[in-house]
Amino acid sequence: MEAIDVDKAEAVADVLKSVGVRRDSYLDQRLYPPPDDPPEDQLAYFVSMVAIDHRTSLWEPFEGVVGGEFFHGADALYRLGRLAYGRGFFKAEKLAELAPSEAEHLLTIGGRRVWDFHIRVLLLRDVGKKALRNGGFERLVPRDSLKRLKEALRQIRAYEDPVEKKALLLAKFLDGRKLADFKDLEEADVPVDNHLSRIAYRLGIADVSYDFLESGVEVPREEDVRLRQLVKTAWKIVAKFADIHPFALDDYLWSFGRRTCTRERPKCDVCPFREICKAHALQRYPPEHLHLITWYY
Ligand code: SF4
Repeated sequence: MEAIDVDKAEAVADVLKSVGVRRDSYLDQRLYPPPDDPPEDQLAYFVSMVAIDHRTSLWEPFEGVVGGEFFHGADALYRLGRLAYGRGFFKAEKLAELAPSEAEHLLTIGGRRVWDFHIRVLLLRDVGKKALRNGGFERLVPRDSLKRLKEALRQIRAYEDPVEKKALLLAKFLDGRKLADFKDLEEADVPVDNHLSRIAYRLGIADVSYDFLESGVEVPREEDVRLRQLVKTAWKIVAKFADIHPFALDDYLWSFGRRTCTRERPKCDVCPFREICKAHALQRYPPEHLHLITWYY
């Protein structure tokens, strides 16, 4: 039976306090629009890009060189998105009628389409239609209340996830870019993806059987939702103990999961958590639970 280990959460929080967790401002011009652009355009970009920001690599990695620079995974997606933004791609009326041929330049890198190309085209079309129905992106997206934002996003297929990964990721971008001024930031949580699940299991804050995680058996949707809810709550407790905002914690963990606590060959020798880490103590490094076919995260 899975549980949250509150003592471990407190120990993780103590380490986090000492490493200096900082917010990103999401101003990298290779990935995001200029901050002085009209809010409608910036919102169109972030609502659309987050809508298609889920697992990019399945059969083969989504990566390649763009403009002389190598990009992988979500970075590759946002790099292509930023170029598409420069071409005026993210307009509600265009998205609503998007044809697969028009999405090739956004969803193809290194000569390979992203694994669920047609699903992402449909998700973008749905975003465009919902924006049109609401009178544009500024009207679609409430920016004074996180609670209202989450409610409004439920009308969009891409944002259906009960664990709200994409809704919370969008909120994090809007808050960090000062495109929103949420009065109820205490409603925030971390957007739970594979990195956050894997790190939570390895540290032991979400106490899930290593035999189960290492079995490689794919879980059904309800089980996936239940496990990610557990992970979300575990990180909320860590954030409270550490007095760190969940959005800042997510910035830290996302980068930590890509650079240090990687799926294969985690770099425990340079990890600040190694003295308290369950995986390191057991010398077993399970991956995240397996749930492959989804557009939720
Ligand atoms: S000690 Fe190793 S397994 Fe544990 S959190 Fe750090 S990198 Fe991950």
